[in-house]
Amino acid sequence: MILKVARMGHPVLRQPAREVTGREIASGVLGQILADMFDTMDEYEGIGLAAPQVHVSLRLIVLEVPAGLRDPRDPAIPRTAMINPVVTPITDETMQNWEGCLSVPDLIGQVERPRKVHVAWTAPDGIAHQQEFEGFPAAAVQHEADHLDGVLYVERIGDMKTFQFTREFSRFHARTDGVPEGHEDEG
Ligand code: ZN
Repeated sequence: MILKVARMGHPVLRQPAREVTGREIASGVLGQILADMFDTMDEYEGIGLAAPQVHVSLRLIVLEVPAGLRDPRDPAIPRTAMINPVVTPITDETMQNWEGCLSVPDLIGQVERPRKVHVAWTAPDGIAHQQEFEGFPAAAVQHEADHLDGVLYVERIGDMKTFQFTREFSRFHARTDGVPEGHEDEG
């Protein structure tokens, strides 16, 4: 089921989300909400979605990032649900990343983020996972995990001159800034 997406200004986006318990994972109650989050992400052509964006204040994110979206070397993130993700930067090297957000529609801005992160999470089947992400996929995971702490990418924009409407960005800047025209990459 496609869910309504909370937009910037809704308090649920500012509230730190609570951890999902082992009991909740074992009970299978997350199945429906995760299915609905994937449906909602697909409907709005996002590459990620965090539960607070659909008014559920739990530490849950879903992602599906195509390969090579920004850099041909970027691998894909297959359709993944992460419960209680813990993101740890593993390099001092940063990158500038163009970001949009389904909760801040039609806008885009440039955010500086660590280039490489380690992520530990629990899958819906209760299995613990850990993986390193680099480049755009690393930024996508960081963007979604920020939502669980009540943080929006907007307050991470270093140069507010980069904050602009997606349509104008596509018209005037996308080709020179290496982002495919009309590609919004929202989460
Ligand atoms: Zn977002």
